[in-house]
Amino acid sequence: MIPFLDLKGINAAYREELIAAVTQVIDSGWYINGNECSLFEKEFATYCGVKFCVGVGNGLDALAITLRAWKELGMLKDGDEVIVPANTYIATILAITNNCLVPVFVEPDKESFNISPSQVLNAITSKTKVIFPVHLYGCLAEMPELRAIADEYGLLVLEDAAQAHGASFYGQRSGSWGHAAGFSFYPGKNLGALGDGGAVTTNDEELANTIRILANYGSHKKYENLFQGFNSRLDEMQAAILRVKLKHIEFEIQERRKVARIYLDKIVNPCVILPKWNVFEQHVFHLFVIKSAKRNSLQNFLLQNGVQTLIHYPVPPHKQQAYLNWSSLALPITECLHKQVLSLPISSFLGLKNANRVSDIINEFK
Ligand SMILES: *Cc1c(COP(=O)(O)O)cnc(C)c1O
Repeated sequence: MIPFLDLKGINAAYREELIAAVTQVIDSGWYINGNECSLFEKEFATYCGVKFCVGVGNGLDALAITLRAWKELGMLKDGDEVIVPANTYIATILAITNNCLVPVFVEPDKESFNISPSQVLNAITSKTKVIFPVHLYGCLAEMPELRAIADEYGLLVLEDAAQAHGASFYGQRSGSWGHAAGFSFYPGKNLGALGDGGAVTTNDEELANTIRILANYGSHKKYENLFQGFNSRLDEMQAAILRVKLKHIEFEIQERRKVARIYLDKIVNPCVILPKWNVFEQHVFHLFVIKSAKRNSLQNFLLQNGVQTLIHYPVPPHKQQAYLNWSSLALPITECLHKQVLSLPISSFLGLKNANRVSDIINEFK
């Protein structure tokens, strides 16, 4: 069986370095809010090309605490509208609703899967305060256009960069286009910890400080609390692991691009629509997502031939039980995508032979 993602295989390549990093943390006797976390924050900020990075407990918290910080800073209030792509992972939407803000769903561009700037323009009302693009599958949303719209209307931009570590546009990386960005280091992401982890990047020092305080019980000083905060911190063990993984992220991305290149060159089955984007070298291929009107039978066929695939995502947020009040919303492009998308195996550990094999099997499908 070719698995969708072999995390054991990916991390085995860094086994010695990871053991050394973890051992150092164990022996240090310091496990929360220490050197490893602040060093990782500096290194990741540099990597993204921003001034500040704040480590938090996971990607959802990175997004939710940023919105909460804007509320504490008086830039947002309950009921404000946040423009967001309808085809995203549920965490993007939870970050909004957990803050008593209102998501306004916008359809994606059919080819890039990312939020469509012209649809964003149509969705702006007097209550709109934030544009919340998601760099879906590892490809940056149309950030120059979105940033221009935001600047014209005085809106904040929060990037959901959970799938796009290192993705760029005109040489400028994800995490540096918005007023802030949230990253996830969930093990399966391109920069994955060996547990949960997340971070916010920003050039806004006041925002970074507020997020740091909120994520530590709302406490700026031991036993003094400015806000009703959270406990959401990037622990020393995960930070040390991430410092190792960050050194190798460009290799990980290059290997993913090699696999993507094979899929693009080899898959010729007319039942399959290959993904498209502006510049190949800017995409980090967290996921390689094809479309097919015969998606379910293609997925079965691949499974019968020893290839595991996944669907990102089978049910859009507005059709979830958790959000019953939106079930009658009509978002045809989003709903159609959810019926047609299929994610092929991709990683630094897949191997080019396996990528060729997956392509051959797809070409045999009728
Ligand atoms: C993974 C992911 C998140 C959430 O990250 P966690 O670390 O799992 O909380 C948010 N948004 C998107 C688009 C994601 O893929």
